[in-house]
Amino acid sequence: MVRGTFWSTGQVVMSAVAGIDIALWDLKGKATGRPVYALLGGALRSRVPAYVTGFYYREGERPDDLAREAAMYLEQGYRTLKVKVGGLTPEADAERVGRIRKAVGNDVAIMLAYARRVVVVPGYGLAVAQAQHDVRALADLLEERGIDVTYAIHPVAGRMPGHMNVLLAEANVPYPQLKEMEEANPEFPRTDVALVIGANDVTNPAARSEPGSPIYGMPILDVDRATSVVVLKRGMSPGFAGIDNPLFYMDNAALLFGDAKASVTDVLGELKSL
Ligand code: NAP
Repeated sequence: MVRGTFWSTGQVVMSAVAGIDIALWDLKGKATGRPVYALLGGALRSRVPAYVTGFYYREGERPDDLAREAAMYLEQGYRTLKVKVGGLTPEADAERVGRIRKAVGNDVAIMLAYARRVVVVPGYGLAVAQAQHDVRALADLLEERGIDVTYAIHPVAGRMPGHMNVLLAEANVPYPQLKEMEEANPEFPRTDVALVIGANDVTNPAARSEPGSPIYGMPILDVDRATSVVVLKRGMSPGFAGIDNPLFYMDNAALLFGDAKASVTDVLGELKSL
């Protein structure tokens, strides 16, 4: 019984105790006609995210082998894939991972689907694209999945005072979900995904860190402190201030290029299929 002992009470003993324990719950469930999870106090959630580990190195691997393997996992319902790296040069590994990402498709929807807390950061581009209703639909779908969604409003986002509030009110975004900058900023370190939609200057970390920048000292939304940042914009054009944004090059940031309305609609469609 004690051979292979590792933990204080012994691995084998604990495995045996656990086996007997779950067997007793099973018996009780059968006797009372109730599922074991109900006996244990009820279900905590109806879905459990799972990932698959795959893409092991193989002799004579061909590029389309990776795409085929990815397609197989997607067909089985997996949306998070863990890839082996470290056995090749960093460049060769990066190329392999790139091929897999391409085969898997829109990872923004996947990132959102498995987040617990999402903060939407609207800016001028959202107004240009008139994407407010689509953003509201996306937020509703995330909320239905149990994800906490709020909107962080910068006082000069857009082109006139109160621009974002007017825009979001038009889409009947519930008022308690709107957070002013002072309230929103402390929450970013606890945020899984900051979804920046057509905002640029108001998220530029150069305002905090580059004394030479024309916007140095301007209060910004600290989206870069979120676990992941996704920026929806059409290309690499600057915002109103005409300056580059170092946020776009950070490791935790991803850019989704396209008109904000089209991108939000695409992500919404992808999410529905997850
Ligand atoms: P921003 O810095 O002007 O950036 C807006 C971004 O939206 C751009 O980088 C643009 O990039 C993107 N965009 C434009 N059309 C889009 C579309 N159809 N779909 C997706 N993205 C689109 O905006 P912000 O972050 O809201 O900051 C506001 C700026 O305006 C600040 O500099 C502020 O000082 C200034 N301002 C504000 C007021 C006010 O009262 N609120 C008044 C005057 C000036 P792409 O072109 O690459 O898509």
